Amino acid sequence: MRKALVAANWKMNGRRSANEQLISALVSGAEQAGAGVVDIVVCPPAVYLADVRQRLAGSLIELGAQNVSSEKADGAYTGECSAQMFQDAGCSWVLIGHSERRARYGETEEVVAAKLLAALDAGLNPVLCVGETLEQRQAGKLVEVVSSQVVSALSTLSVDALSKVVVAYEPVWAIGTGLTASPDQAQEVHAMIRAVVAEFAGKDSAQKMRILYGGSVNATNAESIFAQPDIDGGLVGGASLKAEEFLAICRASADLAAVG
Ligand code: PEP
Repeated sequence: MRKALVAANWKMNGRRSANEQLISALVSGAEQAGAGVVDIVVCPPAVYLADVRQRLAGSLIELGAQNVSSEKADGAYTGECSAQMFQDAGCSWVLIGHSERRARYGETEEVVAAKLLAALDAGLNPVLCVGETLEQRQAGKLVEVVSSQVVSALSTLSVDALSKVVVAYEPVWAIGTGLTASPDQAQEVHAMIRAVVAEFAGKDSAQKMRILYGGSVNATNAESIFAQPDIDGGLVGGASLKAEEFLAICRASADLAAVG
């Protein structure tokens, strides 16, 4: 049985006072939303990690970063933060290779793989984001693109390292657009990702790997998506900025876990 995980990606949103309100609502609603039954992670912008960490203290909500440097050692990398720094700042999670980073900041598969290794080296749990663009899907390249993203980042990892990785399947055409993959479409890709992982890491590792869905998840569609057998929770952007909505998404995941 895989424990579900719901992660909030705030992207470049938030200010201190709004964050305070959002976090205090999340902390007060977390237990009712199933924290503990599901893992709940919040990834605020890096400058607010310390504030958010303080407010999360004593709660079951964990802290994550949205990005990390591929460089492991300290040095002359202006503007970068290392995985060790995020670990030092109280993060236990980090998003790696989000499609916005791949598309807007030129993150190649090599860079993504290096970031993933840096995160694992520092003891962070990486959430590896993968997904195809609409053009790639329409050109019949979905399997090629997504499996290449998975293989290039994960195929050389040890079984132990792989057990710390969560994959998030996020079709690029569904991120922030209000479009979602149908539960069947998402399930098909999740099963394919699990099969690809099984090829290089064995069935056991593949069965244990948590694979989240991301792309316009909200309180209305969460349940039908999370009910799919290979979907182990969600990575949530826009809807994670509203406490009630995000808690309802966590609740949907926890209710499904209770049903088994
Ligand atoms: C994301 O940023 O990872 C995401 C899935 O965003 P949204 O939920 O807004 O589509």
